[in-house]
Amino acid sequence: MMCPHCCSAKTMERSDRTAHGYRLFRCRGCGRRFNERTGSVLNRLQPPTDVVFPIVLWRLRMKLSLRDLAEILLLCGLVFSHEAIRDWEARLAPLLCASAAGARPAAAGILTRYTSK
Ligand SMILES: [Zn+2]
Repeated sequence: MMCPHCCSAKTMERSDRTAHGYRLFRCRGCGRRFNERTGSVLNRLQPPTDVVFPIVLWRLRMKLSLRDLAEILLLCGLVFSHEAIRDWEARLAPLLCASAAGARPAAAGILTRYTSK
């Protein structure tokens, strides 16, 4: 894995993990430690990626309101505020849009409001 601080490829994976279970690395070039999320939009995001991405996808695909989505998640036993979902959407919607635009041009039309500013 490349170091997000100095872009060196001389990194080694450590045996321990973060509190959330993400892999840890140490750079031999700059000596800094980082995990697999460091430098990405997912950095400092507490819930797991496999929980956050479907929620954002539901928000974009099904056009649910933030409060309705938070209420649906509460029924499933997941407690997130509508503001948390709004933050995730702001971070991840551009990624999902870029992915959809590359994969299926017709589907990208749904998400164009997030790519144009
Ligand atoms: Zn480095």
